[in-house]
Amino acid sequence: MKTIFSFTVVLAAIAAFSLANHFPFNAAAGAAQAPPSGFVLVAHGGAGDYINMKPEQVEMRRAAMLKAVQAGYTILAKKGSSLDAVEATIRVMEDSGLFDAGRGSYYTREGVPEMDAAIMDGRTLNAGSVASLKHVTNPIHLARLVMEKTPHVMLVGEGAEEFAKSQGIELVSPYFFFNEREWERYKNAKSAEEKKKSAKFVANEEHGTVGVVALDQAGNLAAGTSTGGTVMKMPGRVGDSPIIGAGTYANNESCAVSGTGTGEFYMRNIVAADICERVRYLHVTLQQAANDVVMKELVDQHGDGGVIALDPKGNIASPFNTNGMMTATVRADGKVALQGWSKSAKPIVVPIIMSVAR
Ligand code: ASP
Repeated sequence: MKTIFSFTVVLAAIAAFSLANHFPFNAAAGAAQAPPSGFVLVAHGGAGDYINMKPEQVEMRRAAMLKAVQAGYTILAKKGSSLDAVEATIRVMEDSGLFDAGRGSYYTREGVPEMDAAIMDGRTLNAGSVASLKHVTNPIHLARLVMEKTPHVMLVGEGAEEFAKSQGIELVSPYFFFNEREWERYKNAKSAEEKKKSAKFVANEEHGTVGVVALDQAGNLAAGTSTGGTVMKMPGRVGDSPIIGAGTYANNESCAVSGTGTGEFYMRNIVAADICERVRYLHVTLQQAANDVVMKELVDQHGDGGVIALDPKGNIASPFNTNGMMTATVRADGKVALQGWSKSAKPIVVPIIMSVAR
């Protein structure tokens, strides 16, 4: 794997372990108290089962998440917008090759990755999304451009990539996304399917979709999600991540949400919008809305996954009905809490290192 981590990140990851016991973080089950002021950013690296994942890989994901939220934190601390913070954080995760997004995307049944992404501004309800991309290194950036430079919300496939070219984005060969780990996963899934001689799709036990929700110092919410979708998906299959209201949603009146899990359930249940609209119309807490949708409605339908959700007061909910959902949370106090690689994993809290140059 060609992933290269900066010395800083490695140091920060080491610090994470030594500091874990010194800064107990009280964020059990995702419940958190609103800060009186300030800003918040929460990132997820996919819901699923981390039990079979090699410990080194879990560690690398933690280090990558730390590096990613540091990029977002730097923007928010300098009074930047939640939109900029969401995009910057996701770009780092897309580039890492460690998640099911950007360079680490899962492959379709034909053995090439196809990526989806969306971003939404809670202040204006503007949104941009892209789907079925094969040649764009940072789908989240293209989603942002769709939002800002076109009259549309969603562009897909060739049309989206033509638009990318018109914006000066270089289209890369699908080989750019070659990743030994994903190639192995693809081959294993294919042979498992052949052995079963079944038309049924191989269960997707691990999700590595990435998503971020943020609240900036001006009180504006934003959400973004980026993914390679599910293992062995059909070419042309689009998941929930780029569907506004399903996998991604933000509204200053209620909340910002990014989901991860088997997207078909998120689309049928318009999960992200449902959580926010429960807050808006039923006046329930964010925690209750998110729990009711993820831990009751999705569970009743056997829909696996989780969400990260954030309201304008800085309250966070991050329920998941899988064995794990890795998250990183940072507030203005600059302590990043990494957690979720198992249900019982104790959060690791690491002080932020501000990125000097971006
Ligand atoms: N929700 C994504 C999709 O269905 C997959 C995931 O979260 O891992 O495309």
